[in-house]
Amino acid sequence: MRTLTPGQWYLRFTCEHCNTKQILFQDLSQGEAKIKATYVVECSNCFHKGSYDGDQIERYQHPLEADA
Ligand SMILES: [Zn+2]
Repeated sequence: MRTLTPGQWYLRFTCEHCNTKQILFQDLSQGEAKIKATYVVECSNCFHKGSYDGDQIERYQHPLEADA
């Protein structure tokens, strides 16, 4: 599992095979980009390769650490 940066936005999909949440990539637009492409990606959990479009990709902001 890669390290996520607190407060950073990511695009995330749910694996259609094992239903785990998987990070697609870092969202440099801070959650404002519209997703129009279809991404074919391999799940890092079960290695199922699936294709996901904008309706299946969600934005995710990694929480800031509680005690700063
Ligand atoms: Zn999977």
